[in-house]
Amino acid sequence: MSGMRKNKPKTVLVAGGAGFVGSHLCDALLAEGHAVICVDSFLTGAVENVAALENHPRFRLVEHDICQPLRIRERVDEIFNLACAASPPRYQADPAHTLMTSVVGTANLLELAEKNGATFLQASTSEVYGDPQEHPQKESYRGHVNCTGPRACYDEGKRAAETLCFDFLRAGRVDARVTRIFNTYGPRMQSDDGRIVSNFIIQALHGKPLTIYGTGEQTRSFCYVSDLIAGLLALMRVKPNPRTPVNLGNPGEFTVLELAQLVLEHIPTGSPLQYVPLPEDDPQRRRPDISRARALLDWEPKVPLEEGLVRTIEWFSAFEDRNKPRRGKRRTVARGARPSRQGAREYQHVSG
Ligand code: NAD
Ligand code: UDP
Repeated sequence: MSGMRKNKPKTVLVAGGAGFVGSHLCDALLAEGHAVICVDSFLTGAVENVAALENHPRFRLVEHDICQPLRIRERVDEIFNLACAASPPRYQADPAHTLMTSVVGTANLLELAEKNGATFLQASTSEVYGDPQEHPQKESYRGHVNCTGPRACYDEGKRAAETLCFDFLRAGRVDARVTRIFNTYGPRMQSDDGRIVSNFIIQALHGKPLTIYGTGEQTRSFCYVSDLIAGLLALMRVKPNPRTPVNLGNPGEFTVLELAQLVLEHIPTGSPLQYVPLPEDDPQRRRPDISRARALLDWEPKVPLEEGLVRTIEWFSAFEDRNKPRRGKRRTVARGARPSRQGAREYQHVSG
């Protein structure tokens, strides 16, 4: 188990570090003075999320699919496992690979943590509660997941990954921690990955209809990314290990229609609403009970939805402007694509 002192610079591996959340985590760790090894297959991440870090002396990018065992030359003190497509259309594009990423990939990273005596944090999800029959969701709730449905590759993979973490922890093999993350949004979400916040902002910026799945009465609770990062760092560092999953999310609960209205208030392009069928197994209500995070980590979110949404809209507007004249050069590996050397080449291209 890790015996690092609190403020000593560490070597931290972030799997999924080129993704939306992972790239913000890399930034935060570098700002704290740590060395960061970002491991990513570029399945849903973007080279541009970490391009600014390329010349940072404490940053190293390793293109790798965590389904394959991983050898790292440095001694690693902490491992954050964020590697997994998170948007429903993306994780359903290659469901077997999604499941294997959570199961085989997490096992590979736990073994690396064991070899290094590194502390391990697993990014689990509110999806382990499925379409919940208890509301709000406490960590003690065991969930309501359809294990044969289209979301199961993600939900069941994440549930199995939690199991692995607690097995390694109980056996004294790894100081493993598990957080269940609720819907998080902010700059660097992929504009085309199908999640609600990015969809609505992009649709509104282009004056296109906002796609409301089902009636729009279903709810989600939206956490701004900086709040999540603070929670991830707190859970990684808290002593002793809580030995229990910890919800991280913003308890403010909104219907899909309320979110659409808020986006349209800030992007008044006159976009209409377009109702389309609800995807199968789409959870109807979701709100975290965060009393455990408050008690154990002294953590709670600080950024209200409207403020976070404005920041995100500003980022997407600037992103759209920046990318207009060279739209074809956006560096994202295609949806559902198998990991390849392409990401590494692109990284060289961007950095050159
Ligand atoms: P994201 O898709 O932007 O990032 C995931 C990253 O993992 C990408 O860079 C992707 O290329 C990489 N990846 C995927 N499979 C991989 C593999 N087999 N090997 C190596 N890299 C791989 O998603 P995100 O929103 O940043 O989510 C990060 C983590 O947090 C995920 O594990 C997700 O399940 C979890 N999470 C996120 C949310 C949210 O709302 N953002 C909610 C719950 C849980
Ligand atoms: N949703 C929607 N329109 C969209 C995208 C999503 O109405 O363009 C709905 C979706 O059906 C779900 C909620 O918004 O009820 C959140 O969807 P998202 O894919 O962002 O996250 P998840 O379902 O994984 O919570």
